[in-house]
Amino acid sequence: MVRESEPCWSLTDHVCYRCLGRIVERQSSDGVVARCCDCGLEVLGGYRKICTCGLTLMSGRPAGFYCAKNDNHKPGKTQEIIGLHDEWV
Ligand SMILES: [Zn+2]
Ligand SMILES: [Zn+2]
Repeated sequence: MVRESEPCWSLTDHVCYRCLGRIVERQSSDGVVARCCDCGLEVLGGYRKICTCGLTLMSGRPAGFYCAKNDNHKPGKTQEIIGLHDEWV
């Protein structure tokens, strides 16, 4: 199998709904592919498919989560982007 040329991932300010890992995106011939750096979850359709902002309840309503910069970010200690909930702030 011929390996494609190294895909160019770009960092997003969004985190994975499963593990809160950072999400990266790249263009593919089928559209935007989003991937979680930590758990490796990969989807076609962009970061909203796997980020916490895109989370919905069973009823289909937004779950209230969103991705935000961590103001107390300490490199190596805490994550730069975290998943927050409306009611937590
Ligand atoms: Zn997000
Ligand atoms: Zn993940």
